[in-house]
Amino acid sequence: MRGLSLAIDGMELPAIEKISESQAEDPFQVLIATLLSARTQDATTLAASTRLFRRARTPRTMATLSVKEIEQLIYPVSFFRNKARFVKGTCEALVHDHGGKVPTSLDEMVTLPGVGRKTANLVMILAYRSQRNICVDTHVHRIANRFGWVKTTLPEQTERALYESTDARWWPYINLYLVTWGQNVCRPVYPRCGDCAISAVCPRIGVQKVGKSRS
Ligand code: SF4
Repeated sequence: MRGLSLAIDGMELPAIEKISESQAEDPFQVLIATLLSARTQDATTLAASTRLFRRARTPRTMATLSVKEIEQLIYPVSFFRNKARFVKGTCEALVHDHGGKVPTSLDEMVTLPGVGRKTANLVMILAYRSQRNICVDTHVHRIANRFGWVKTTLPEQTERALYESTDARWWPYINLYLVTWGQNVCRPVYPRCGDCAISAVCPRIGVQKVGKSRS
């Protein structure tokens, strides 16, 4: 993790980190942007979130939008129809059941429509500064297995296993470091092992083919 913290220095931040920074870690905006981000390119998530927040910045105002209007604002994120329903449902639940605020516990957060552990963990880390959560997405799952930190087949298993196999001081940083690394170097297919700053300490578990080196 120390090597990664140096290696990612200067690389572009993942979209949710940018949104979180620009919105002063507002829990509602981190929550909604993370909902939109699933299986969607970072640039698309950023643009869709910006359009949506320009139209409505709070759960109360966003809950008044129709699903159709939300669809139009967030298009072309993937699964935009489902996500629009989740955004609307989540805003209504926040207004009716949580006083218009994002709950501060993971157990309450995962009761919101469309909110899973990945989203809830990221809100806990970015908006509530939790030191006790690990957010596992596809990049974290893949790279933690390549590193040999875990030996798992599903992201949910990876989250549980990482609490056992990693030092707690790194938990809030695992998502930021591994997502940044996964988007830039340790890609899903053809990882750039030849250009990798931490290749000397990486066992490359499961890596069959590597990408062309740029150097
Ligand atoms: S050596 Fe290859 S598999 Fe290991 S972290 Fe670097 S890019 Fe990923």
